Amino acid sequence: RGGTAEREVPFAQPGSLTRVYAVASGKGGVGKSSVTVNLAAAMAADGLKVGVVDADIYGHSVPRMLGAYGKPTQVENMIMPPSANGVKVISIGMFTPGNAPVVWRGPMLHRALQQFLADVYWGDLDVLLLDLPPGTGDIAISVAQLVPNAEILVVTTPQQAAAEVAERAGSIAVQTHQKIVGVVENMSGLPCPHCDEMVDVFGTGGGERVAEGLTKTTGTQVPVLGAIPIDVRLREGGDEGKPVVLTDPDSPAGSAIRTIAGKL
Ligand code: ADP
Repeated sequence: RGGTAEREVPFAQPGSLTRVYAVASGKGGVGKSSVTVNLAAAMAADGLKVGVVDADIYGHSVPRMLGAYGKPTQVENMIMPPSANGVKVISIGMFTPGNAPVVWRGPMLHRALQQFLADVYWGDLDVLLLDLPPGTGDIAISVAQLVPNAEILVVTTPQQAAAEVAERAGSIAVQTHQKIVGVVENMSGLPCPHCDEMVDVFGTGGGERVAEGLTKTTGTQVPVLGAIPIDVRLREGGDEGKPVVLTDPDSPAGSAIRTIAGKL
């Protein structure tokens, strides 16, 4: 919008009733986007008005996982986000041709996020989820500037190494004075399809370690909100754009995520 002043971010205004959660992880591939999408779908199924900003600029995958294949449209000077499964969603992938990679640098990312938050017509949302890129990059700082009241949700696997980087990513909240709402442990074991045993593919204890570490660094109690097992149905649901919390809400992953959604 050349020439005009930047719009204010409605979610950052005093009196905003929208709860904003920024979903963060230390590294990629731990299931941050899968968790974001399923939490959003579970909350929408519970009757909440939910939006998701896919701020994982370099690894945008939220629209596909959510089954949101529509394109944003423009009405007057606002962007209307497509929605799927009751969730409004906007992603950088909707504005890049084909599968072109995004090669933007910090200032452009900040600008994109500003537009996603202020120029998209979200309506009255109960909850807005931001799927952050992995790590402690520019976007995390931008989120803190644009929506200081956003609470951080940290996703990790049970693995020691993953937990360490997740804790580092979470501790950025200390610098930005943001609240950490809790830790989600994903890929917490694989229930054996042949017996009752749990196979701890990625070890154990990562969620607890991150929560304890963040409790120490922040000086406030950071809880583990839940543990999501490895579940083929979750992966399939992501590939097909049909979140497992909707297609199979009582599956191990589906019920774990619905429980976590109920705590947010
Ligand atoms: P991130 O956003 O952290 O990079 P994704 O959500 O893209 O991670 O997940 C990485 C891959 O792992 C995806 O193929 C996803 O379907 C799969 N996945 C994530 N969590 C689980 C789980 N609990 N069970 C099975 N597959 C999972």
